[in-house]
Amino acid sequence: RPVVAVVGRPNVGKSSLVNRILGRREAVVEDVPGVTRDRVAYDAEWSGRRFTVVDTGGWEVDASGIHLRVAEQAEVAVELADAVLFVVDATVGATDTDEQVVRLLRRSGKPVVLVANKVDDQRQEADAAALWSLGLGQPWPVSALHGRGSGDVLDALLDVLPEKTSVAGAYARGGPRRVALLGRPNVGKSSLLNRLAGSERVVVDAVAGTTRDPVDELVELGGKVWRFVDTAGIRRRVHQTRGADFYASLRTQTALEKAEVAVVLIDVSEPIAEQDIRVVQQVVDSGRALVIGYNKWDLLDEERRHYLEREIERELVQIQWAPRVNLSASTGRNVARLVPALETALASWDRRVPTGRLNAFLGEVVAAHPHPVRGGKQPRILFATQAGTRPPTFVVFASGFIEHGYRRFLERRIREEFGFEGTPIEISVRVRE
Ligand code: GDP
Repeated sequence: RPVVAVVGRPNVGKSSLVNRILGRREAVVEDVPGVTRDRVAYDAEWSGRRFTVVDTGGWEVDASGIHLRVAEQAEVAVELADAVLFVVDATVGATDTDEQVVRLLRRSGKPVVLVANKVDDQRQEADAAALWSLGLGQPWPVSALHGRGSGDVLDALLDVLPEKTSVAGAYARGGPRRVALLGRPNVGKSSLLNRLAGSERVVVDAVAGTTRDPVDELVELGGKVWRFVDTAGIRRRVHQTRGADFYASLRTQTALEKAEVAVVLIDVSEPIAEQDIRVVQQVVDSGRALVIGYNKWDLLDEERRHYLEREIERELVQIQWAPRVNLSASTGRNVARLVPALETALASWDRRVPTGRLNAFLGEVVAAHPHPVRGGKQPRILFATQAGTRPPTFVVFASGFIEHGYRRFLERRIREEFGFEGTPIEISVRVRE
């Protein structure tokens, strides 16, 4: 899915515009300007096309409370996005900061749609027209707050938004499987990529069904070619001291868009951090297959190892299903084990359980452990089917509300029976009275 970044100075109305695009009040506009938000990317749809919107409004203050320069945000956003919505406050006009961003946008060569915001009524349209002076083409007058003009902006956006081949499409053509190498800064992504790619770099054009994409690397492992997506950020080692969190989170998001499976690296020489858990959560939310690489295993002593296992039990129980490889990118230990782990995870991601087998199994499970009786009634499981793969998605029809705990129980049993090692699975329950 193509990525659209919404860029502009603080308070020009970026989050309001994102809300308009999403058509709901989800991208909370905070009362405190520039409050850091966890989420940076949202799924959006307009005229039947789907894309990811990135609200850089969340980056205005980094974890240490330092205001990021607008141009810095824009730089990062532009690098990762396929198109940019550049928002200017028409009631203020173009400021020096805006001009600075314009230069950067021009250099990037990425398509830009200029949004003249806060044009709440027709009288103010002259303010918008003044923004032709920025040299970014037509300024689109908008009132993000009231919704005025936002449809036209989205139409203009779709006109310039590049098509992207879907992951499923790429795979159907028999290309190499797509891996995202993820993890917070300094866990060893770059070291691992170097070790994997090292001598085995593949000539891109020699591989059938692959298009050239300079940010991806093709690597031969275990006799097969794998595509490591979006490696530019790993290679270039963008060492931003400020805004590094946002950069990392955004890179994770865009890499996941392109990937089928993620390897999340965790540095075992340090306590598991909130940021590690967040990356893992992003993978699960994206529905991609998952392998965990515990890196820097060479640095582990007895004591740290003891604590590590306890941390894993405490912090990462929700992904007990993910294959685990204890490795060292520096020494090369166990790096080869990533291949079978990736294969297992992808096979699970692709797996489809025949409806007959699924229902026969669930019939037994439910007979042995029926749903608890609630309000004198016992909700029954009527029928289940696997509606999709990548990730496996199940629809369960029931005669009444199924409690959360019972859903978890069903998920656990389905996993035990059908072996979905390495993939998140989704179970949705539909109630038929
Ligand atoms: P990235 O930010 O995730 O790409 O991390 P780097 O690959 O740049 O690694 C960060 C630091 O950790 C560097 O100093 C590496 O040499 C070191 N490092 C990476 N992997 C290992 C490992 O397996 N063992 C040890 N001891 N150090 C490692």
